[in-house]
Amino acid sequence: MKIFLSKHGKELILGVIILVCFICLINVVAHVQNYTSSLDTQSVEKASFYAYAQKARLNNNVERLYDMAKVIRHSIEVCRDYESMQNAVRAVPDIIGRDNADYVGLCYFHNGQLYDSDFEKYAGYPELLALETAEEDATSNLFQYKDRIMSIGVSVPVESPYMDRLVLIYGRTALSDFMYDDPSQVTESCRYSVFTLFCKHDGVILERVVNRDIFRISTEAVQEGVLRDLITGNSDYKTATQFINTGTSGSLELHIDGVSYVLIVESMGAQSGNVFVLNLFRLSDMYLDGYNLVNLIWGTLCVFFALLVILSIYLLVSQLSMHRKIFDLSTINKQLNCPTLVKFERDAGEILTANKATRFAIIIARFKNFSYINERFGEDMSLAVLKYGNNIIKGSLSLSETYAYGSDGEFYLLFHYREQKTLVDRLNGLCQRVAKFPDFDDKNYKLDMVMDVYEIERDVNQSVQMMLNKVVTVRNMAINNAGAKNITFYTEISRDTYLKKAEIEGTMEQALRDAEFHIFYQPKFNFERKTVDGSEILVRWFDAKNDRYRQPDVFLPIFEENGFIVKMDHFVFFKACENVIYCQNNGVPVYPISVNVSRVTVMQQDFVEYYTRIKQKFNIPNGFVTLEFTESFAYENYEYLATMVDQLHRAGFICSLDDFGTGYSSYNILKTLDMDEIKLDRFFIGKGLSDERDRVILDGVIKMIKNLGMKVTQEGVETKEDYEKLHKLGCDTIQGYYFAKPMKFVHYCEFVATNFPK
Ligand code: C2E
Ligand code: CA
Ligand code: CA
Repeated sequence: MKIFLSKHGKELILGVIILVCFICLINVVAHVQNYTSSLDTQSVEKASFYAYAQKARLNNNVERLYDMAKVIRHSIEVCRDYESMQNAVRAVPDIIGRDNADYVGLCYFHNGQLYDSDFEKYAGYPELLALETAEEDATSNLFQYKDRIMSIGVSVPVESPYMDRLVLIYGRTALSDFMYDDPSQVTESCRYSVFTLFCKHDGVILERVVNRDIFRISTEAVQEGVLRDLITGNSDYKTATQFINTGTSGSLELHIDGVSYVLIVESMGAQSGNVFVLNLFRLSDMYLDGYNLVNLIWGTLCVFFALLVILSIYLLVSQLSMHRKIFDLSTINKQLNCPTLVKFERDAGEILTANKATRFAIIIARFKNFSYINERFGEDMSLAVLKYGNNIIKGSLSLSETYAYGSDGEFYLLFHYREQKTLVDRLNGLCQRVAKFPDFDDKNYKLDMVMDVYEIERDVNQSVQMMLNKVVTVRNMAINNAGAKNITFYTEISRDTYLKKAEIEGTMEQALRDAEFHIFYQPKFNFERKTVDGSEILVRWFDAKNDRYRQPDVFLPIFEENGFIVKMDHFVFFKACENVIYCQNNGVPVYPISVNVSRVTVMQQDFVEYYTRIKQKFNIPNGFVTLEFTESFAYENYEYLATMVDQLHRAGFICSLDDFGTGYSSYNILKTLDMDEIKLDRFFIGKGLSDERDRVILDGVIKMIKNLGMKVTQEGVETKEDYEKLHKLGCDTIQGYYFAKPMKFVHYCEFVATNFPK
């Protein structure tokens, strides 16, 4: 958790901030949304209020007309004769007021007959005639009266012998004055609408106020004209026309081009001439400030949202590009411009999945002694070596193959193949091409590449990581058998060996502390002096649990690999010196000792210093200790070893080249290394094509070494025959079972005391 926070803390905080911002934004949006919809509701209410105010005014107007009619009725009802009734009728314009422009005239019903204001029978208009059957106060629908504008008849029943019902006729403006207080001025209630239409019962527009130039009212008709133009939805249209056709009032919210409106129909009913008023309000006109505020907030929110989105995208992109960079770093080796193991693992997985039926092998192709190359030729040269190898490997890849550079001069390859033989040929080809590296100052030094191969078992379900583990096992084991082969296969490495290795590594340190490492002595015999010529110190690991000794070839390769050999070599040398002192003090004849020094020990910075210090500590005389270096190490590092030999000579050590003849046997070693002794490998006394041939070779080698002024020792002499042959050929010293086997210190003390007392 802590690691996660320290790695991703910043991103996490930024992420949380962005999240909080988004939550706040959503919250604000929800509130604004609420406010907007409540503003809509309020706007509808306000619009309804305006429409209602118009209706109230209209009602009021009708009411006044009725009141006037009732005043006149009263003046008629009080008449006792026909004449006075006629006078009362004649006085009507005066009662109403001669300046009342709305008043048009009167008529009346008597005994089912309509009469005009001149008391003549009057045909009238259907709208007026329809009033005869009315029971109470009533108005007519609007009609075209003579040449006058649309008019309305307002009638009240009259209780008179000369008149049954009085009808006062007014121009429509008597009703619609609510639209204009003053002809030039729109009333408050009409001022905020998009339009206000004052209409006849049948939908013919009589008056109009158009405030906004949003809809052009091009017809006189409402249902088939205005509403058709305005309303797109069928059901909305139906609802709106239904209000009009049934003479009911109602409202309808409309959304036109993304803008909200409310359409309000106020029907006045039969008592008011069945006229209706149609208003269209734009909601945003109702609370202009409120809507402006909302728009401002929406605008701000949009900007904020856009910024937040941009910020998030920016962060995301920068995160992605950072991850991309990290990914690139982890997948591409910048120095060699080649894939890394991380990429190899992924690519190999994909290739193997895509080619299930193909045989593949994972190979570690590594330069032999890469650290030595680095040390001897420098970093630039080792980089050049890597680039050279990289180019060769890269160029050799075919489709569905990949490779990577790991570290320490090791490349990982995924190759497909049909038969093992072709794979081996291909790998050998690579090794040969690599060996042609032309840039070493020392033209004799050959770049060597070795291959550790794991042939992928396609029937085993395993990850690439497991395959890599296997090839690494091959590598580790192959390193221990250095010099033996160029190509090693996984199948050659038994699991048993692997387990043994783990066991050894787990116990070695404790074994050293518990003094489980014992030193054995193998005496050498000197022909000339016919006596023991010192002895080689050989290590053994005493396995107390099983009461047996472990042989060095079991554990030394592992110690070499993990570096523990340095501690062990130091211990062996220390112990051997300690024993010299013991012999001196206990009257045991003292003979020189030869100590093996591993390649890893020689490479230590304090190598010479340590051996010199211990030699001095035990006061060991000069020329008493021989240090043995293996030939394979000398071959690979002879320049370095030459300087070591020089220093060792000065410190009083004798230097010996061990296992001569096993590996590369370059005469260069003999020429450049100032060795005191050469130890011939058992190979020279092994059986060759013929005894004569063997003799000639052995003779030649011994002579050459002796001519170079070095002492020759033959190892592994087991038979009397060999002993005699070597004696004849002039070999200086022999070591082997024939003379003595490696023995414990106590036995060695007895051996020399008995056979070679001084
Ligand atoms: P080496 O230095 O070549 O030692 C000689 C090996 O040959 C010894 O094997 C010895 O037991 C064996 N030998 C001696 N006479 C005969 C014979 O007549 N016939 C046969 N077949 N073998 C004979 P050992 O003791 O198993 O040691 C193996 C190798 O381990 C040594 O080879 C040496 O390279 C290494 N080694 C042993 N002790 C040490 C040590 O203290 N430090 C280091 N660095 N290496 C050691
Ligand atoms: Ca040796
Ligand atoms: Ca040897």
